[in-house]
Amino acid sequence: MPEQAPQSRVAGTSVETLLEALPYIREFHGRTVVIKYGGAAMLDEELREAFATDVVLLKYVGLNPIVVHGGGPEITRYMERLDLEVRFHEGLRVSDAETVEVAKMVLVGKLNSEIVQRLNRHGQPAVGLAGEDGTLFEVAPVPNAEQVGFVGSIERVDVDVLNHIAADYIPVIASSASDREGQSYNVNADEAAGKVAAALGAHKAIFLTDVAGWLADPDDESSLITRVPVTEVEAGLEKIDGGMRPKLQACVDAIRGGAQSATIIDGRVPHSLLLELFTDAGNGTMITP
Ligand code: ADP
Ligand code: MG
Repeated sequence: MPEQAPQSRVAGTSVETLLEALPYIREFHGRTVVIKYGGAAMLDEELREAFATDVVLLKYVGLNPIVVHGGGPEITRYMERLDLEVRFHEGLRVSDAETVEVAKMVLVGKLNSEIVQRLNRHGQPAVGLAGEDGTLFEVAPVPNAEQVGFVGSIERVDVDVLNHIAADYIPVIASSASDREGQSYNVNADEAAGKVAAALGAHKAIFLTDVAGWLADPDDESSLITRVPVTEVEAGLEKIDGGMRPKLQACVDAIRGGAQSATIIDGRVPHSLLLELFTDAGNGTMITP
């Protein structure tokens, strides 16, 4: 038999990849997937493009993607430019009135708009939303407001506006909200994603971050926990530090709201979203019911 030409070997590989994706595409068709976008995938130009391509592809193949984003590093950068003090307390940004104002300007005015533009450019129209739009989020001050200031906890999600928009567009949600008196609050984007997933009864919630996933030892990337039942996460939550705690809490919220899985994936890997959804290869930490 003649040796296979390099061209057809490449083609063969693509066909296998597509065939591998098929059962997943079938399973996820029409299903809602909430995606928490943040970290490196939001900062690096190549990763931003890869993310937009992936989300648009999800919409094209019949999934219902909902993007929820934060903006940590960019907010910090603008605060520094304005000579404002940047402080964190137990993973939450200490937010006085000025900090909240800057955070909102950056989140809604800049980052949200940029994500929307990029998705539009890739061929699927997106619509940006903040917590106030269509009364999406109702917030109350977090219990330790005395230490962290205007940080809000989401008490209720009004999914009506999301369902309307998602029928035709990709909703892109900025993690910012106001209370009834019009005071703005910062909201942790993981919390927002988890609560949105729960309220929508999403099929899946996926969290992009800058580590491989949930690590048994935070200083050792090889200690990745690949698959864990939600009860084990709930039992260990108290002992988890930093930004991983709200992320795992958000996974718990998503699962308790009916999601079939919640996955924390490495957003530093280009197309990690597609790899997670459409290939057999394990990726990050999957939390299961
Ligand atoms: P994101 O932008 O994805 O929300 P965060 O910084 O808020 O990122 O949260 C992820 C961070 O949580 C990691 O970069 C790491 O510093 C910290 N962390 C604390 N404990 C763990 C753990 N057990 N496994 C992984 N990360 C952990
Ligand atoms: Mg975080």
